[in-house]
Amino acid sequence: MSNKGILIVISGPSGAGKGTICKALLEKNQYYLSISATTRKPRAGEVDGVNYYFMDRDEFENKIKEDDFLECAEVYGNLYGTPRSKVQAMLDSGKDVILEIDIQGALKVKDKIEDGVFIFILPPSMEELKQRIIKRGSETPQSLMTRFKSAYQEINYISTYNYAVVNNTVSDAVNKIESILMAERCRVDRIKEKILDSKEGLIHEQLYD
Ligand code: 5GP
Repeated sequence: MSNKGILIVISGPSGAGKGTICKALLEKNQYYLSISATTRKPRAGEVDGVNYYFMDRDEFENKIKEDDFLECAEVYGNLYGTPRSKVQAMLDSGKDVILEIDIQGALKVKDKIEDGVFIFILPPSMEELKQRIIKRGSETPQSLMTRFKSAYQEINYISTYNYAVVNNTVSDAVNKIESILMAERCRVDRIKEKILDSKEGLIHEQLYD
Protein backbone atom coordinates (compact mmCIF):
# COMPACT_ATOMS: atom_id res chain seq x y z
CA MET A 1 0.00 0.00 0.00
CA SER A 2 1.50 3.29 -1.03
CA ASN A 3 0.25 6.47 0.58
CA LYS A 4 0.80 10.08 -0.34
CA GLY A 5 0.53 11.22 3.28
CA ILE A 6 2.45 9.63 6.15
CA LEU A 7 0.58 7.51 8.65
CA ILE A 8 1.88 8.28 12.14
CA VAL A 9 0.97 5.87 14.93
CA ILE A 10 1.42 7.14 18.48
CA SER A 11 1.14 4.75 21.42
CA GLY A 12 2.31 4.60 25.00
CA PRO A 13 1.03 3.86 28.47
CA SER A 14 -1.97 5.65 29.89
CA GLY A 15 -0.68 8.86 31.51
CA ALA A 16 2.42 9.15 29.30
CA GLY A 17 0.91 12.26 27.74
CA LYS A 18 -0.06 11.02 24.24
CA GLY A 19 -3.24 13.12 24.14
CA THR A 20 -1.50 16.35 25.18
CA ILE A 21 1.32 15.76 22.72
CA CYS A 22 -1.12 15.08 19.84
CA LYS A 23 -3.04 18.25 20.66
CA ALA A 24 0.16 20.30 20.67
CA LEU A 25 1.26 18.72 17.37
CA LEU A 26 -2.06 19.70 15.78
CA GLU A 27 -1.78 23.29 16.98
CA LYS A 28 1.47 23.69 15.05
CA ASN A 29 0.96 21.43 12.03
CA GLN A 30 -1.57 20.46 9.38
CA TYR A 31 -1.99 16.85 10.46
CA TYR A 32 -5.29 15.00 10.56
CA LEU A 33 -5.92 13.30 13.93
CA SER A 34 -8.15 10.30 13.38
CA ILE A 35 -11.24 10.20 15.61
CA SER A 36 -11.76 6.67 16.92
CA ALA A 37 -14.99 4.88 17.68
CA THR A 38 -15.41 3.46 21.16
CA THR A 39 -17.89 1.68 23.40
CA ARG A 40 -16.45 3.49 26.43
CA LYS A 41 -18.79 5.98 28.09
CA PRO A 42 -17.85 9.66 27.56
CA ARG A 43 -15.84 11.30 30.36
CA ALA A 44 -16.85 14.73 31.63
CA GLY A 45 -16.23 17.27 28.86
CA GLU A 46 -15.85 14.71 26.08
CA VAL A 47 -17.96 15.38 22.99
CA ASP A 48 -19.29 12.83 20.50
CA GLY A 49 -17.63 13.26 17.10
CA VAL A 50 -14.84 15.38 18.60
CA ASN A 51 -13.04 13.16 21.12
CA TYR A 52 -14.52 9.85 19.98
CA TYR A 53 -17.55 8.47 18.17
CA PHE A 54 -19.32 6.99 21.18
CA MET A 55 -21.51 3.98 20.41
CA ASP A 56 -22.93 0.87 22.02
CA ARG A 57 -21.46 -2.58 21.54
CA ASP A 58 -24.06 -3.66 18.96
CA GLU A 59 -23.35 -0.70 16.72
CA PHE A 60 -19.61 -1.25 17.08
CA GLU A 61 -19.89 -4.96 16.26
CA ASN A 62 -21.94 -4.15 13.14
CA LYS A 63 -19.18 -1.87 11.99
CA ILE A 64 -16.65 -4.67 12.52
CA LYS A 65 -18.83 -6.95 10.35
CA GLU A 66 -18.98 -4.29 7.65
CA ASP A 67 -15.17 -4.04 7.74
CA ASP A 68 -15.38 -0.34 8.59
CA PHE A 69 -12.29 -0.35 10.82
CA LEU A 70 -8.65 -0.23 9.79
CA GLU A 71 -8.03 -1.86 13.16
CA CYS A 72 -9.90 -2.37 16.38
CA ALA A 73 -9.06 -3.76 19.81
CA GLU A 74 -10.45 -4.27 23.27
CA VAL A 75 -8.67 -2.00 25.76
CA TYR A 76 -9.50 -2.00 29.49
CA GLY A 77 -12.82 -3.76 28.76
CA ASN A 78 -14.02 -1.38 26.02
CA LEU A 79 -13.81 -1.61 22.24
CA TYR A 80 -11.88 1.01 20.28
CA GLY A 81 -11.53 1.23 16.49
CA THR A 82 -10.04 3.43 13.76
CA PRO A 83 -12.51 4.32 10.99
CA ARG A 84 -10.90 3.10 7.76
CA SER A 85 -12.40 5.25 5.00
CA LYS A 86 -11.64 8.67 6.50
CA VAL A 87 -8.03 7.73 7.26
CA GLN A 88 -7.49 6.39 3.75
CA ALA A 89 -9.11 9.44 2.13
CA MET A 90 -6.85 11.77 4.12
CA LEU A 91 -3.71 9.81 3.23
CA ASP A 92 -4.73 9.71 -0.45
CA SER A 93 -5.20 13.49 -0.40
CA GLY A 94 -1.60 13.87 0.79
CA LYS A 95 -2.35 14.69 4.43
CA ASP A 96 -0.28 13.14 7.23
CA VAL A 97 -2.57 11.25 9.59
CA ILE A 98 -2.05 10.61 13.30
CA LEU A 99 -3.55 7.56 15.00
CA GLU A 100 -3.39 7.64 18.80
CA ILE A 101 -4.05 3.98 19.49
CA ASP A 102 -3.00 1.16 21.79
CA ILE A 103 -0.30 -1.40 21.10
CA GLN A 104 -2.62 -4.18 19.87
CA GLY A 105 -4.04 -1.75 17.31
CA ALA A 106 -0.59 -0.51 16.31
CA LEU A 107 0.54 -4.08 15.61
CA LYS A 108 -2.48 -4.62 13.33
CA VAL A 109 -1.81 -1.37 11.45
CA LYS A 110 1.85 -2.34 11.04
CA ASP A 111 0.77 -5.46 9.12
CA LYS A 112 -1.31 -3.37 6.73
CA ILE A 113 0.63 -0.14 6.30
CA GLU A 114 4.30 -0.95 6.14
CA ASP A 115 5.52 2.59 5.60
CA GLY A 116 3.78 3.94 8.72
CA VAL A 117 5.87 5.71 11.36
CA PHE A 118 5.43 4.08 14.75
CA ILE A 119 6.26 6.26 17.76
CA PHE A 120 6.16 5.15 21.40
CA ILE A 121 5.76 7.82 24.09
CA LEU A 122 7.48 7.08 27.39
CA PRO A 123 6.96 8.87 30.71
CA PRO A 124 10.10 10.29 32.37
CA SER A 125 9.69 7.64 35.12
CA MET A 126 7.12 5.14 36.38
CA GLU A 127 6.56 7.26 39.50
CA GLU A 128 5.82 10.29 37.34
CA LEU A 129 3.41 8.16 35.27
CA LYS A 130 1.52 7.14 38.40
CA GLN A 131 1.28 10.75 39.58
CA ARG A 132 -0.01 11.87 36.19
CA ILE A 133 -2.78 9.24 36.14
CA ILE A 134 -3.80 10.18 39.71
CA LYS A 135 -3.76 13.92 38.87
CA ARG A 136 -6.03 13.33 35.85
CA GLY A 137 -8.69 12.31 38.37
CA SER A 138 -10.81 10.46 35.80
CA GLU A 139 -10.12 6.92 37.02
CA THR A 140 -11.55 4.84 39.84
CA PRO A 141 -8.90 3.32 42.18
CA GLN A 142 -9.41 -0.01 40.39
CA SER A 143 -9.06 1.31 36.83
CA LEU A 144 -6.07 3.33 37.98
CA MET A 145 -4.37 0.10 39.12
CA THR A 146 -5.31 -1.64 35.84
CA ARG A 147 -3.82 1.17 33.76
CA PHE A 148 -0.70 1.36 35.90
CA LYS A 149 -0.07 -2.42 35.75
CA SER A 150 -0.67 -2.43 31.99
CA ALA A 151 1.96 0.27 31.60
CA TYR A 152 4.67 -2.17 32.72
CA GLN A 153 3.52 -4.78 30.17
CA GLU A 154 3.09 -2.25 27.37
CA ILE A 155 6.64 -0.97 27.64
CA ASN A 156 7.84 -4.50 26.75
CA TYR A 157 6.44 -3.94 23.24
CA ILE A 158 8.60 -0.93 22.53
CA SER A 159 10.81 -2.87 20.12
CA THR A 160 7.95 -3.10 17.63
CA TYR A 161 8.03 0.70 17.25
CA ASN A 162 10.43 2.76 15.12
CA TYR A 163 10.98 5.59 17.59
CA ALA A 164 10.80 6.20 21.36
CA VAL A 165 10.14 9.70 22.67
CA VAL A 166 10.40 10.48 26.39
CA ASN A 167 7.80 13.04 27.42
CA ASN A 168 9.88 15.17 29.80
CA THR A 169 8.11 18.29 28.62
CA VAL A 170 5.42 18.54 25.97
CA SER A 171 7.36 21.06 23.86
CA ASP A 172 10.48 18.88 23.88
CA ALA A 173 8.46 15.78 22.88
CA VAL A 174 6.71 17.73 20.10
CA ASN A 175 10.05 19.01 18.76
CA LYS A 176 11.38 15.46 18.67
CA ILE A 177 8.34 14.15 16.82
CA GLU A 178 8.52 17.00 14.29
CA SER A 179 12.19 16.16 13.69
CA ILE A 180 11.34 12.48 13.23
CA LEU A 181 8.70 13.37 10.66
CA MET A 182 10.99 15.77 8.82
CA ALA A 183 13.57 12.98 8.52
CA GLU A 184 10.87 10.53 7.39
CA ARG A 185 9.81 12.91 4.60
CA CYS A 186 13.39 12.89 3.30
CA ARG A 187 13.70 9.11 3.19
CA VAL A 188 14.70 7.92 -0.26
CA ASP A 189 12.22 5.05 -0.21
CA ARG A 190 9.39 7.58 0.25
CA ILE A 191 10.45 10.01 -2.45
CA LYS A 192 12.42 7.96 -5.00
CA GLU A 193 9.47 7.64 -7.39
CA LYS A 194 9.11 11.40 -7.44
CA ILE A 195 12.84 11.75 -8.05
CA LEU A 196 12.88 9.19 -10.86
CA ASP A 197 9.69 10.56 -12.43
CA SER A 198 10.98 14.09 -12.42
CA LYS A 199 11.80 15.17 -15.97
CA GLU A 200 12.16 18.88 -15.36
CA GLY A 201 14.94 18.62 -12.78
CA LEU A 202 14.51 18.42 -9.05
CA ILE A 203 12.93 21.30 -7.29
CA HIS A 204 11.94 21.45 -3.65
CA GLU A 205 8.19 21.55 -4.30
CA GLN A 206 8.26 18.41 -6.41
CA LEU A 207 10.02 16.45 -3.71
CA TYR A 208 8.08 17.50 -0.67
CA ASP A 209 4.60 18.21 -2.06
P1 5GP B 1 -8.95 6.27 26.79
O1 5GP B 1 -10.11 5.45 27.26
O2 5GP B 1 -8.04 6.68 27.91
O3 5GP B 1 -9.37 7.43 25.92
O4 5GP B 1 -8.08 5.34 25.82
C1 5GP B 1 -7.64 4.10 26.28
C2 5GP B 1 -6.65 3.51 25.31
O5 5GP B 1 -7.30 3.22 24.06
C3 5GP B 1 -5.46 4.42 24.97
O6 5GP B 1 -4.27 3.64 25.03
C4 5GP B 1 -5.74 4.85 23.56
O7 5GP B 1 -4.54 5.11 22.84
C5 5GP B 1 -6.44 3.63 23.01
N1 5GP B 1 -7.24 3.91 21.81
C6 5GP B 1 -7.95 5.02 21.52
N2 5GP B 1 -8.52 4.92 20.30
C7 5GP B 1 -8.15 3.71 19.81
C8 5GP B 1 -8.40 3.01 18.58
O8 5GP B 1 -9.07 3.48 17.66
N3 5GP B 1 -7.84 1.77 18.45
C9 5GP B 1 -7.08 1.21 19.43
N4 5GP B 1 -6.56 0.00 19.18
N5 5GP B 1 -6.82 1.83 20.58
C10 5GP B 1 -7.34 3.06 20.78
